[in-house]
Amino acid sequence: MIKRLIFLGPPGAGKGTQAKVLADQWQIPHISTGDILRQATKDKTPLGQKVESFMSGGELVPDDLILDLIRERLQEEDARKGWILDGFPRNVHQAEFLEELLAELHQHADYAISLEAPDDVLVDRLLHRGRNDDAEATVRRRLQVYQEQTAPVKAFYQQHNRLKVVNGDRPPEVVSGAIAQAIA
Ligand code: AMP
Repeated sequence: MIKRLIFLGPPGAGKGTQAKVLADQWQIPHISTGDILRQATKDKTPLGQKVESFMSGGELVPDDLILDLIRERLQEEDARKGWILDGFPRNVHQAEFLEELLAELHQHADYAISLEAPDDVLVDRLLHRGRNDDAEATVRRRLQVYQEQTAPVKAFYQQHNRLKVVNGDRPPEVVSGAIAQAIA
């Protein structure tokens, strides 16, 4: 069966870790917009240069820089067998765009999984991860941006009866089990 999942949830909740586990298990691509953007900044591509200051400030990068990227990525050959989106959609406009794009491609997402954990746990994890947007002021801003712009995306999937909320404040293998159960 073709599997298509969206990982929502705040930074530090374990989306990347869990998305990778499932992508490996199902042999489908793990599409992380954060990873794609970080690679672009590392390679100093035109896109990378445009997004750098947004990322280091903990802000979302403008939608017009992300939407084409997702449109192209979901049309690559490997994405025909399914996909796991990690870090997209990040606001309601992106979620609406994705619905339209998937309709065009005759696809739909099976579930949106919101992995959640209390703020103090997230801050603690992020500060120990050592990525360059993990400085304390940036971490706080990313959590605030999550609350303001990304948390409302949950209601979007709730309305479509596709939201699963999973407690990410547990050991990774316990979380993996809970996700498997939620989407069984
Ligand atoms: P992440 O690795 O998902 O935490 O993303 C790291 C950073 O990349 C975010 O703080 C944003 O600046 C940017 N980013 C990643 N995905 C998106 C997206 N879908 N929309 C806007 N900005 C994004």
